[in-house]
Amino acid sequence: MSAYIVSVVLGTIRGLKRTCPKCRKDQIVPASKKQETVLCKFCGAKIPPKQTPR
Ligand SMILES: [Zn+2]
Repeated sequence: MSAYIVSVVLGTIRGLKRTCPKCRKDQIVPASKKQETVLCKFCGAKIPPKQTPR
């Protein structure tokens, strides 16, 4: 695997990673849910999408 691919994959994972505000656990959300509020798979709390500054 080339370094370029690795950096792209890591960047994608970082972008999809969300920390639950309630239980503080990290989880990866599907790319399709990137702009949506998701439920924490550990405690069921709602995790809002990250606000991307413009
Ligand atoms: Zn949680």
